[in-house]
Amino acid sequence: MYCHNCGNAIDDDANHCKHCGQPVKNYGRYATFTNLREKEVGVGLIIALLVIGGGQMYAGKIARGFIILLAWVFLFIPVLALIIISDVVAGPYGGAFAVIAAFVIYIGYWVWSIYDAKITIERYNEALRNTGRPPW
Ligand SMILES: [Zn+2]
Repeated sequence: MYCHNCGNAIDDDANHCKHCGQPVKNYGRYATFTNLREKEVGVGLIIALLVIGGGQMYAGKIARGFIILLAWVFLFIPVLALIIISDVVAGPYGGAFAVIAAFVIYIGYWVWSIYDAKITIERYNEALRNTGRPPW
């Protein structure tokens, strides 16, 4: 069979690739189907930290990453509406509370997008391991 990581020919009963050291036992017969590399979760998380939706794009989910980024950009519309309405309805204290709520919403969205990137990369890797093909 062939190593799924580096593509070099290896013994069928090998546990590790003798060329790159990657464990291959669990990949079974599917190891011959591809020489695609798994995505590095660490790299994806760094990208996701820097760019909202970047981790999903790194995992090959370009459209999903772009939508997550766009939603982040346009999140200011409902958030601004929340602040204005709270200020009008509940006065300056209501407005101040809404600003804090908006901060929590933004941080929450950011954390969720990073978590989603991690799940997406893990799903990609799992499909590659199980089928030898990318899932999307
Ligand atoms: Zn290898």
